Amino acid sequence: MIRIGLGKDLHRLVEGRPFVVGGVNIPSERGELGHSDGDVLSHAVIDALLGAAGIGDIGEFFPSNDLQWKDANSIELLKESVERVYQRGWRIINIDCILTCESPKLLPYRQHIRESLATALQIPVDRIFVKGKTNEKVDAVGAGLAVEALVVCLLEHVQS
Ligand code: MG
Repeated sequence: MIRIGLGKDLHRLVEGRPFVVGGVNIPSERGELGHSDGDVLSHAVIDALLGAAGIGDIGEFFPSNDLQWKDANSIELLKESVERVYQRGWRIINIDCILTCESPKLLPYRQHIRESLATALQIPVDRIFVKGKTNEKVDAVGAGLAVEALVVCLLEHVQS
């Protein structure tokens, strides 16, 4: 049995916050506003995995009104989420991601981001890919006011 999952997230970008993508701090004048560290890519990966396994979603497991998750390291939330997925007998075939932001360019950090996520998910790095896009200066993302992540994943069930 295989299943597809879809995850999407968006965070506002503001001055004075770190720009965290897949657990990697990227030098930038602006970073994600959020209850946690605001790691938009990790959040979308969590939703893709939980959705594919039919377990729930990030808002259900890590509510933004819960002080326990204030300034939380999203990589830790990702580790906890994938553990639930693995416990139910699912394994990751692959994950593909698009991060859309006007600046900075993602390419110099891509391999580091892939390695960071692969380590958290306990998968080989070739099973996860990340593409950086701009929004062609259109809408809030294009104006540099927000960053968006879109993620698909494929899971296979290895236990009956
Ligand atoms: Mg989020």
